[in-house]
Amino acid sequence: MSLLTRRTVLSGASLTLLGCTVKSATPTGRDVSRVLPAMPTSDGAGVRLNRALGHRDLSLLDPFLLLDEFHTDNPNDYLAGFPEHPHRGFETVTYMIHGAMEHRDVLGNQGRLGPGSAQWMTAGKGIIHSEMPKQERGLMWGFQLWVNLPKSRKLIPPRYQDISADRIPETVVDGSRVRVIAGSAFGESGPITGIDIEPTFIDVALGKGSRVVQPVPAGHTTFAFVTEGTARLGVSRREVPKGHLAILEKGTSVELFGEGEGGRVLLLAGRPFAEPVARAGPFVMNTEDELRQAFDDYRNGRLLL
Ligand code: MN
Repeated sequence: MSLLTRRTVLSGASLTLLGCTVKSATPTGRDVSRVLPAMPTSDGAGVRLNRALGHRDLSLLDPFLLLDEFHTDNPNDYLAGFPEHPHRGFETVTYMIHGAMEHRDVLGNQGRLGPGSAQWMTAGKGIIHSEMPKQERGLMWGFQLWVNLPKSRKLIPPRYQDISADRIPETVVDGSRVRVIAGSAFGESGPITGIDIEPTFIDVALGKGSRVVQPVPAGHTTFAFVTEGTARLGVSRREVPKGHLAILEKGTSVELFGEGEGGRVLLLAGRPFAEPVARAGPFVMNTEDELRQAFDDYRNGRLLL
């Protein structure tokens, strides 16, 4: 018997001990190790938002650096937007549920991010851009995720992947609606390609009593953020309410279970780098020297050179 087979049998046995109904020895379900509330804060020129990752109690989930949710129908909370600012050394991912943003960089790239759309922006060596609301009233609801780049590729040329809502595959699984932004789920492949962390990024609107099981690579950092209602997550079906982030550890799949009115969940997984992280404001590098260089380059007009 190979080592692999023996390990598979053992993990199957432990699942039975937990009272889980999974019949196959694989995949092994992850469980929730921590649940943390998002923290209210403001950023940009005074946009009110909730920070789920990248705050005092959870500064990093390698390779994920930050997750912000903006969700308000008060224009005073979002109109100031994010005027011109730089980035270097990582990627920003914007995902809109309601409302519209416009991005514009100093090289002339621009685009509108409407409801249901996504943008995966690889800042690499440098980008200077603005991200401003494209509406004066009504609900603005979206997310920004920051994803690290490996040390060897922090200074690659910038790249945009602007994905309109109709290019994001959507499927229905056991009464739940699943949108696949990156990675594979239920036979669909997300439109985002060529990303170092090999991301899985799905948006699951859980139906009442619905059970969705998503495979994730064993070594990938995995977390879920509940965006509506309440969801039950992991093999022990831990209850996680709206506005909370759940870390899911050890295993090759994640179970999402819709209870009550269902609930909606962003599920993210990615390959960690296990490299030093030096970050300040809009720059994420590996050392303090590289951070100083980034600030110097920006001040001296050399960030994009
Ligand atoms: Mn930005």
